Amino acid sequence: MKIEMIDGKLLVPDFPTIAYIRGDGVGEDIFPEAKRVFDSAVEKAFGGNKKIDWLRLLAGEEAFKFKENYLPDETINSISEYLLAIKGPLMTPVGESFRSINVTLRQKLDLYACVRPVEYFEGIESPMKAPEKVDMTIFRENTEDIYAGVEFATGSSEAHQLIDFLEQTLKVTAIRFPKTSAIGVKPVSIEGTKRLVESAFDYALKNGKKRLTIVHKGNIMKFTEGGFRKWAYEVAEQYPSFTKLIYDKIKKEKGKKKAEEEKAAAMQAGKIYVDDVIADNFLQQIILNPQNFEVIATLNLNGDYISDALAAQVGGIGIAPGANINYKTGHAIFEATHGTAPDIAGLNQANPSSLILSGVMMFDYLGWHEVAQTIRKALFYAFKAKECTRDLGGSLSTSEFADILIKYI
Ligand code: NAD
Repeated sequence: MKIEMIDGKLLVPDFPTIAYIRGDGVGEDIFPEAKRVFDSAVEKAFGGNKKIDWLRLLAGEEAFKFKENYLPDETINSISEYLLAIKGPLMTPVGESFRSINVTLRQKLDLYACVRPVEYFEGIESPMKAPEKVDMTIFRENTEDIYAGVEFATGSSEAHQLIDFLEQTLKVTAIRFPKTSAIGVKPVSIEGTKRLVESAFDYALKNGKKRLTIVHKGNIMKFTEGGFRKWAYEVAEQYPSFTKLIYDKIKKEKGKKKAEEEKAAAMQAGKIYVDDVIADNFLQQIILNPQNFEVIATLNLNGDYISDALAAQVGGIGIAPGANINYKTGHAIFEATHGTAPDIAGLNQANPSSLILSGVMMFDYLGWHEVAQTIRKALFYAFKAKECTRDLGGSLSTSEFADILIKYI
């Protein structure tokens, strides 16, 4: 049965149809194992009263084999119809004309929020002294910035025309080598920013988070990244929040003590503290003081760097989950964040945790929190006992690891 979004609320039947894309490369190793874990946790939580009705969709190499198309229309149409999908990694076909299948899916379904929770599980090897201090959720804008793909090659007539326009009409003088420059355009809009930041606030409120940090490079890109900062602070005004802007104003007018008092009173009243950090400083701060951050709202490219850097701090891409969501239409794709890992594909060695934790996000999104909790607990016990795959310092195969999780479920 279909999951529906009515009046902004997700209506989930007891036997919801959920689409899945197995994925290429290690997708073949990890997807069937993750699915076993999901089904087992649903059975444990609901004893047969609720169950997922899996709908298999084709994309990537498998789709090309059967349909001669890496991303058939019926795959996009089915996700559009059934709202939710979970997927393994997909290879990016080589060739300049083809954009990534993942990026295409996100754009077609307008999945504007890329949500990446990053937390540490005891027992996992980490390069950090105190990885348990990392517990953040990143909201990365997913549709704008340089990822919009407005980019022209060096020597192309488009690049020449655009550079001519910039120099002659807009009197731009700063393009150092205009004849040989490739050129890209970075759109950042008010609507694009606000809908992303609203999702981050909604998440913070729902999950009892106390701090939301806007990460940007507005000191250099004043109107795009600086605009993101400004519009994000405007969103804060719609929510129970206390911003750094207010803090600084009080501090300037009435002194630091008063500013601290007002901040403490606001926190006491359950408000969210909102501040902003420049992206390069933020990359230092997540290493030096990761405990200071909870929910992050940022632009597309910053979010890309930040999510991978944070994933490395807690054990690497083998365990970092992700979701791409349009909170207004309800459409969501949950996915392993790593690639197809061709070097270990087909060897039953890959770590399925990234996909399994993406499933945990999916169950929380569905409101099936019992299932999400059951799987999280199983992962917690397995990692604590150092029962894990090779990339995390263990010796288990993909399927042995799934067996262990099912045992703990
Ligand atoms: P990759 O993530 O596939 O591999 C990088 C390294 O991490 C490899 O050494 C690999 O063995 C290891 N690794 C990755 N996932 C692992 C897992 N689950 N368990 C254990 N080790 C794991 O990155 P890549 O080699 O740059 O990309 C390969 C292909 O994947 C490319 O076609 C790329 O476009 C695609 N890709 C897809 C996605 C996605 O679908 N979301 C993301 C990134 C890359």
